[in-house]
Amino acid sequence: MVCGDDICCGCGACVSICPKKCIQLVPNNLGVIIPEIDFKECIKCGLCEKTCPKIGENKFNSPQECYAAYLKDKEKRLNSASGGVARAMYEKFLEDPKSYVVGVCWDKEFNPIFKLTNNKEDIKLFQGSKYVQAFSDDIYLKIEEKLKSECKVLYIAMPCQIAAAKKYFEAKNIYTKNLILVDILCHGVSPAQYFKEYLENLHKKLKYKKIKNISFRSNRRFRNFHFCLDYISNKDKEIKYNRFAYEDNYFNSFLDASSLRESCYTCNFSQLERISDVTIGDFFGLSKMPSSTLFNGDVGNASLILCNTEVGLNFVKQIKKYFNIFERPIQEAYEGGASFHGPYRKSKWRNKFVKYYKKGRFVQTMNKIGGWELKKIKIVHGFIRTIKEAYMKITGMEY
Ligand SMILES: Cc1cc2nc3c(=O)[nH]c(=O)nc-3n(C[C@H](O)[C@H](O)[C@H](O)COP(=O)(O)OP(=O)(O)OC[C@H]3O[C@@H](n4cnc5c(N)ncnc54)[C@H](O)[C@@H]3O)c2cc1C
Repeated sequence: MVCGDDICCGCGACVSICPKKCIQLVPNNLGVIIPEIDFKECIKCGLCEKTCPKIGENKFNSPQECYAAYLKDKEKRLNSASGGVARAMYEKFLEDPKSYVVGVCWDKEFNPIFKLTNNKEDIKLFQGSKYVQAFSDDIYLKIEEKLKSECKVLYIAMPCQIAAAKKYFEAKNIYTKNLILVDILCHGVSPAQYFKEYLENLHKKLKYKKIKNISFRSNRRFRNFHFCLDYISNKDKEIKYNRFAYEDNYFNSFLDASSLRESCYTCNFSQLERISDVTIGDFFGLSKMPSSTLFNGDVGNASLILCNTEVGLNFVKQIKKYFNIFERPIQEAYEGGASFHGPYRKSKWRNKFVKYYKKGRFVQTMNKIGGWELKKIKIVHGFIRTIKEAYMKITGMEY
């Protein structure tokens, strides 16, 4: 054990730094990936502890400037969760041929994975929040390799993954002047194992041949906080399975914090002081600004941008031209953003979830612990969705 099952955030930095390669991430009885050390091989060098973002000190920065922003290009913004800041950052960075970017995309089996690339086409794959914990694998090693060859790297990830990268490069004495770190405001993450089980369950129900795409959020009409599965049916038809977040066992358990990693409930990064150069997220505190001023009659979500270091300030200056962008008081972002105010509280169903979850039975566990109350929520939201869907069909609105 490096830091303990309940506080481990699964960043995988210990796995990457181990000189004997004797640490691996394995799922525990809750399906949560945890490092396991082969003590026969371990030489007790202590590097795993030194690299762990959950042990020892982390250096935090105070935000210096705060913006509300959304991409001017509506077409590019459509598939982003909020204002499309991540996409603009990637695009700006890849203008330089010696630069690389890191983001999270789905693999062939729809597991969320980190990918390092300098191919502009990959930016689309990173768009959209995947509300599932992504596998870090050897991403720290890949970034290290690029930094050593004097390439610039943009790494966008959750705060614990950013903290892990910082500690990893520090422990390895890597020159990080060419690295920009952007953290995403984080509600917490649900283990990939639950999402896998959830998809297996859907596969049995819908009997699809192939998934085309999955999204949890977008700026498309009727796709914000919806679980959307675009699939090819066994009759070769393209079908959209679209459920409102609270109707959906997986999305609901993520949002109401029944199924997060145990470490997320004690997260030390959920605060206004940040670990990164820039922080991005939803600008939930923007309600005081009239949306007519902000969106100019358009619809969509706005992103929050916090510049936390000199490097961050300079980088944001370079991408401002892509946005409709408004400087806002930091306090406004702080007041509206729950993720600045400490870790999410466990839902009333969390303890039961831990008690009843059995590997392979995520959906059944949610149904069992939610009982009639969860059913009622699903029925009400399902009813609202059905009416909306009918309205959209009649009026020919894009789905
Ligand atoms: C698990 C999770 C929890 C979040 N919780 C909050 C919250 O509590 N409050 C809040 O304001 N915002 C939260 N966000 C951020 C929000 O959903 C948007 O990602 C953010 O507003 C940026 O939006 P965008 O339009 O720029 O980019 P988008 O296009 O939506 O996001 C793309 C960026 O997110 C990265 N990304 C996507 N999925 C993951 C993942 N699983 N792990 C790591 N990186 C990922 C991509 O690589 C890319 O850099 C969360 C995001 C995730 C993934």
